[in-house]
Amino acid sequence: MILEAIPCGPMQTNCYVVIDNVSNEAVVIDPGGDMQLILDRLKALSPGARVDKILLTHGHGDHIGALAALKRKTGALIYIHYADKPMLSDNTLNISALFGIPCELCPADCMMQDGDVIEFGSRTVEVIHTPGHTPGSVCLVIGDHLFTGDCLFRRGMGRYDLPGGDLEALKQSLRKLASFEEKLKVHPGHGPATTIGEERRTNPYLRELLK
Ligand SMILES: [Zn+2]
Ligand SMILES: [Zn+2]
Repeated sequence: MILEAIPCGPMQTNCYVVIDNVSNEAVVIDPGGDMQLILDRLKALSPGARVDKILLTHGHGDHIGALAALKRKTGALIYIHYADKPMLSDNTLNISALFGIPCELCPADCMMQDGDVIEFGSRTVEVIHTPGHTPGSVCLVIGDHLFTGDCLFRRGMGRYDLPGGDLEALKQSLRKLASFEEKLKVHPGHGPATTIGEERRTNPYLRELLK
């Protein structure tokens, strides 16, 4: 499996490209902007790789800036948790209007919910519903890799003060993530990677929650 983080768009959101090198099928997680950059990296990492699915950790504008363009170019199926679905058709709900960077909107093809298993090539993506930052935030597990969107960051946690945010739900979600295997590598929506073990020991919010 090939995995790369590509910081994209005005908020330098981490877009992740994951390629199954058996089938050369790829998933793109959170295409926040810079569609051509994402496709160029994909081609450089594995020539001929096909984007099969686009998976969204949540519906915020900084995670979907290149969604419409990437969909047009690749025809990939778009997945989002049903609770964040309205954000894909409203630039106020996805807060891109608030930040002055309205997105080209594009609806999803498939709705995710907790426990779903999505196949790509010889691999699977497991969906874990982790609300709090938004009602439909999800984390995605592929092998030993956990994609946490804006729920868990290295030494930080997501905002809960934006529309639809919920601190109690976020705490619950973080407790759930903290119970996962320590070796899981964490790939957040912004900033550097970490592991569950490292965050259990050093993330001040997790430490407080685990007391
Ligand atoms: Zn967000
Ligand atoms: Zn974000």
